[in-house]
Order: sequence, then structure tokens, then C-alpha cells
Amino acid sequence: MQFETIAAQAAHHIDETTGAVAPPIYLSTTFERDPDGEYSRGFVYSRVDNPNRRALEQCLALLEGGETGSAEAAAFASGSAATAVVFQALAPGDHVIAPDDCYHGTSKMLREVFAPWGLQTSFVDMTDVDSVRQAVQPNTRLIWVETPSNPLLKITDITRMAEIAKSAGAVCACDNTWASPMLQRPFELGADLVVHSTTKYLSGHEDVTGGAVVCREDSALFQRVRLIQNLCGAVPSPFDCWLTLRGIRTLPARMPTHSANAGRLARFLQDHPRVSAVHYPGLPDHPGQDIAAKQMSDFGGMLSFQVVGGRDAAMAVAARVRLFVRATSLGGTQSLIEHRASIEGPDTPTPDALLRVSVGLENVDDLLADLAQALG
Ligand code: PLP
Repeated sequence: MQFETIAAQAAHHIDETTGAVAPPIYLSTTFERDPDGEYSRGFVYSRVDNPNRRALEQCLALLEGGETGSAEAAAFASGSAATAVVFQALAPGDHVIAPDDCYHGTSKMLREVFAPWGLQTSFVDMTDVDSVRQAVQPNTRLIWVETPSNPLLKITDITRMAEIAKSAGAVCACDNTWASPMLQRPFELGADLVVHSTTKYLSGHEDVTGGAVVCREDSALFQRVRLIQNLCGAVPSPFDCWLTLRGIRTLPARMPTHSANAGRLARFLQDHPRVSAVHYPGLPDHPGQDIAAKQMSDFGGMLSFQVVGGRDAAMAVAARVRLFVRATSLGGTQSLIEHRASIEGPDTPTPDALLRVSVGLENVDDLLADLAQALG
């Protein structure tokens, strides 16, 4: 089965008892035990497992893992919860290599939650393969990749990172949120784990928060992820799983439009006299263009750009938009624009003149006209 078919049929989950094509939402927190004490119907308690969560996890495993059927997925209450579980699955004293440009919540989590817990992290520029190699230590257990990165759209070579991880006896995990499994297939490039904020492209409609950890095949590490999911309980509700699965059904139809619209906006911005830099891997002069073209089937719906005149000028552009929505997050149907540094906080390395754009599914001419009038 091809990707589009798996997504459109949400891994073909027809309700067994009723034949319902759109699955029912199972709100029950607990499930009946057999007279002999067994659970022959497979469910015990909804923190541990639930029919809607199981359907979502099976679909995510197929979407990321493909037909081999060996991938396993665990769904969580947010992308950040999924990220945290991967770090928790390590041991205090372990060393992680993470990118210098990535979702600020991930780097903050490593600094403020997992450093006191005993995890050591080196933040490196992953576009420089040698600096990653040099950062490896005897206790390195995880190389965390985020590509394209948030918010500078840096491109990391997943194959090279997976090779370095393998020779160091470490695991390579890829946050695949920005590309989605439709545009980038980290397992085929050697990654061991994929993490998603399903809040973004997978659910796709700005109406559900969720996350997932997907493992190329069942492993001791994935068993630990499952154990933490079960015992610590950061699980999504049945309705959240249902909404995410509903969003997945249209992922193959949405991603090409996100990418095409973003490409048009990036080219427009590149030629604009009030824009000093555009970060979009589909632009020929983007430093990661070659790698992106190799490891992504399209360049995605995210871009960022820097406005001539710094922070105030960037804020003024954001203030003037009429069609774009000034809001954080990404991956939904509506185009969003955000002054990123002010949401990340005073110690952010993000340039002050930078606006991040999640390009939605509107008519691209309407989007271009709005940006043109906002830039003045
Ligand atoms: N990973 C990336 C790349 C993100 O952009 C985000 C959120 O923006 C997250 C993880 C965190 O996801 P969530 O907001 O669902 O916790």
C-alpha cells in the first residue's frame, strides 16, 4: 500500500461491530474483564491502551515505517511530551548531541529539565558534520536531529547523522514535525526513532495537541518509551486521537499545496527590497538546498525571513497583515505569521528581525497580496 492510501483510509480501520467507516470514539476509561480474569478483547484501562489511540498508533507506524510493518508508534498528549519521553528513556549521565537551531522548547527542556536530571547535552551546528563527529563522547547515547529546523530552516543530513550515531553506538532520533512523513522518510535514511508534534501537519487543522514517538522496529529503547507512556501517563484523549486520525486522512492532499504556496512566497520575498534574508530550503541559494533535495520529496510549508530595519520593522510588518493570522504554531490550513524571538524569550539566538511563516492552504495570490501590502 502506498503512503496516500494508508493516509486516506487511516490505515483501514473499519469498526468491527458496526461497520462504521468513521470510527466511533471510545470514551470508556475501563474495559470488562472475562470471567476467568483475562482481557480477551485486548483492552484493560485507557491510560494503558484505548481503541482510538491504538488505531492512531498503528496508522502512524505504517505512515513512517512503510510496508515492512515492523515500525511501532506511541502517541502522547503533545509533541513536547513525546520529546520528553525519548530523553527520559535514557539514563542520567548519558550524553546527547542536539542541534543549535531547533524548536526552542526542546533546547529549553534539555537545559532546564534534563540537565538537572543528569543528562549532558552538546548543542552543535549540525550542518557541519565534522563538528557533530567531534562532539561524540564515550557516553553519547543519542543524536537528536531536527530538519528542517525551527525557526531558521537549517537542513541536517539525516544519513550522515545516522552513520555517526551508529558508529558511536548511539541512537539517531529525528524530529520530523516540519516535513511530515509525506515529505521526509527518516527511517529510510537510517534514523532509529522519529518524533512528531502531531499538533502540526499530521492533524492539520489547528484544533488538537498531540505527539508521537515512532521506532523503526521494536527495540529495548522503544519498550522503555512504552513503559514510560504507560506509567507516567502523558497520553492523548480518545477524541484527540480521533481528530488526529481524521486530519491524517487528508495529509497527502494538503502537503503539496503547503509546499507550492511556500515556494511562491519564498521567491516573492527573496526579491523584495525590504527583506534582507529568506530561509526556505527550496530556494536555489539556500545552503542546505542539495541535501534537502536529496532527502525530502518537497520543501514543505514553513519559511522564515528577516525584515530590513530589525525588530521594530518586523513587528510593524506583522501588525499590518490582514489575511495571515498573527499566531504561533504551524501546519494548519490557515497561514500564520509570528515574530519568533519575542515568543522564545530574552536568551534566544533567533534574529530579532525574523518573522516565521506557516504557509496555509489559501489561494496563493491572496497571500502574496497580503504580504506585499504588509511589507509596504
Ligand atoms: N517539535 C517541533 C519541531 C515543533 O515545532 C514543536 C512545536 O512548535 C514541537 C516539537 C512541540 O510540539 P507541541 O507544541 O505539540 O508540544
